[in-house]
Amino acid sequence: MSDASSFSPDYVAARARFRSSAMALDCRLDAYAIDAKGPQGEELTIDFAVFGQPDPRRVVIVSSGLHGVEGYLGSAVQAALLEERLGGFIPPNDTALVLIHGLNPYGFAWTRRVNEDNADLNRNFLLPGEEYRGAPEKYALLDPLLNPPSPPMSLEPFLIKAVWNIARHGLPALKDAVAGGQFEFPRGLFFGGSGPSATMKVLDQVLPTLVGQADRVIHVDFHTGLGKSGEYKLLVDRAAGTPEAAWLAQRFGADRVQPWSSDGVSYKIRGGMGAWLQHRFPRASYDVLTAEFGTYGILRIIGSLRTENQAHQWGGMKDPATERAKRKLREAFSPSDSAWRQKTVDLGLKLVEQAIEAGMLTA
Ligand SMILES: [Zn+2]
Repeated sequence: MSDASSFSPDYVAARARFRSSAMALDCRLDAYAIDAKGPQGEELTIDFAVFGQPDPRRVVIVSSGLHGVEGYLGSAVQAALLEERLGGFIPPNDTALVLIHGLNPYGFAWTRRVNEDNADLNRNFLLPGEEYRGAPEKYALLDPLLNPPSPPMSLEPFLIKAVWNIARHGLPALKDAVAGGQFEFPRGLFFGGSGPSATMKVLDQVLPTLVGQADRVIHVDFHTGLGKSGEYKLLVDRAAGTPEAAWLAQRFGADRVQPWSSDGVSYKIRGGMGAWLQHRFPRASYDVLTAEFGTYGILRIIGSLRTENQAHQWGGMKDPATERAKRKLREAFSPSDSAWRQKTVDLGLKLVEQAIEAGMLTA
C-alpha cells in the first residue's frame, strides 16, 4: 500500500530512492547534472527513467520538482509508482512512459521554490523571440512588501502588512504579481530569470530523443501549494471551449481540469513550461497537466516564500532564522501531516493511472 512513507526526507534521499527503485525495474535510467551543487557540495541532477521502445508514437511523462521544494509530493508519487505499480509493466507497442525526477534539483536540495538563479522555472520558459524583461504594473508597488532587503526578523507581521496592501491595491494586484511573474527584480519573488535555465537546456536536449516523433504526449507535472488542502486541480494549456479542453475534462474530470479563459479566472502565464513544450514539439498534440495540490492558505504560502527569500538573499545559510525560514517553507509546500501525505500520494497515483490509460492504453 502506498502511504506517507513514500515521502523522502530530502533531495539526496529522494533522488537515491528514485534511481534505485527504477534500476530494479526494466527501464533506462539517465542523469543530467547541472552546474550548481547542493548544500553539502553534492552533485545535482535531473533524472530520467524511460519505459518502452525508442521512437514511440504516444508518450506519457510524469515530472516532479519544477518548483524545487514542491518536489516532495511528486517524488513520493514517482517512488510509489516505481515501487508498487510498475513491476512487470511493459508499455504497449509504440508507446513510452517517462518519469522525470527533480526538474529543479537546486531548489529541491536547498529548500527553495526557485532555481540557482532565483528563477521561478514556470516563468522561465519564454518562447523564441520573447525577451526576459518586464513586470506586472503593480509589482513595483508590492516590491517593498514582498522583498524587504534584510534578513527576516522573528515576529514580522507579514499578515497585517499583506492585509493592508490588499486593502490598498486589491487582492487581484497581489495575485497578478504572483501569477504573472516578473523579469525586473532579480532578487525578488516570482522572478522569471534573465535567460534560459539549466532545466530548459536539459529538456531541450533530452526530450527530442524521447518524444521527437510522437504525435501524442500527455505530461503530468506535479506541484503543491495552490488550492484546497489535500485536493488537486489540473491547469492545462488549452482554451476553454476547445475540443482539446473538452477531451481533457472527459478523461480527467470536469471538476479538476482548468482550461485558461480570457475572462481572467485562469489565464495564460508567461514563460510557462507547458506552452514552451507545445511550441517545441509542434507535430505532437502535447498536453501538460499542471497538477496543483493544495496545502495551506495563500497568505501563508506567500508569507513563507517571502521569509525564505529574505533569509536566502540577505541572511547567513547557518543562521537559525534561515533554518527556521526553510523549515517553514518546506512545511508550506510539503505538509508533514500523514493524512495529507497519504491522501495526496493516493490521488497522485490515480491521476498517473488516468494519464497512462488516456495516453498509452486507449487507441
Ligand atoms: Zn509549482
